[in-house]
Amino acid sequence: MITFSGVSKFYGDFQVLKNIDFSARAGERIVICGPSGSGKSTLIRCINGLEAHQSGTITVDGIRLGADAASTRKVRSEVGMVFQQFNLFPHLTVIENLMLGPVRARGMSRPAARDLAMRYLNRVRIPEQAEKYPRQLSGGQQQRVAIARSLCMEPRIMLFDEPTSALDPEMINEVLDVMVELAGTGMTMIVVTHEMGFARKVADRMVFMDHGEIVEVAPPAEFFTAPKSRRCQDFLQKIL
Ligand code: ATP
Ligand code: MG
Repeated sequence: MITFSGVSKFYGDFQVLKNIDFSARAGERIVICGPSGSGKSTLIRCINGLEAHQSGTITVDGIRLGADAASTRKVRSEVGMVFQQFNLFPHLTVIENLMLGPVRARGMSRPAARDLAMRYLNRVRIPEQAEKYPRQLSGGQQQRVAIARSLCMEPRIMLFDEPTSALDPEMINEVLDVMVELAGTGMTMIVVTHEMGFARKVADRMVFMDHGEIVEVAPPAEFFTAPKSRRCQDFLQKIL
């Protein structure tokens, strides 16, 4: 469903992704970890065309990214993304934040978009916050709104870039719980996180990146107990 083949990316002379070969199947849950600056965010931002790559090919559902503007648009409509900072529109209420995409991008009627939005607010367990503004919510609630907003576009793939790292510790679990539930629905998920409890619970495969390379790919049972490379062993020692 997602395929990287020989993908490299540069910022000027600096090579941020080095010949990445990787694929994820439909319904698969992938957790990516690795040191700061290893290229995790860059890699997942390439999946929805937020970053362009210079060589190799990335295909999502058989569509080649960067082939033309229409392909990139098509891929974006299938891929939702949740960031560390929630990126909600501060001047819109929660429900308006959720309705915006379906109304503007999908031409849905406002009543239909409202129904859809309420369905996903229920899914993330904060229907009672619908009429509030983002600043009136806790960080954990805001992140759940951001997840619901992405789901309102009914993506086939969800990307998460350290979705809990801006949260106070007591709010991390409420967001992870929603993500665990989402994983249970069969959604294809690519998650950059250092929450290893979450990774053990939901990941089909772990990916370890370092210096722009994918160094190791393994199911969690194997990844956590018998990491093969020295770099991965050192990293796990630091975070576990
Ligand atoms: P972190 O864990 O800190 O989020 P990361 O693994 O997500 O790190 P990236 O954000 O993908 O890492 O960055 C990889 C490398 O690319 C870093 O060395 C970073 O400084 C560099 N980089 C990222 N964005 C740019 C940019 N727009 N211009 C130049 N260099 C960049
Ligand atoms: Mg990052």
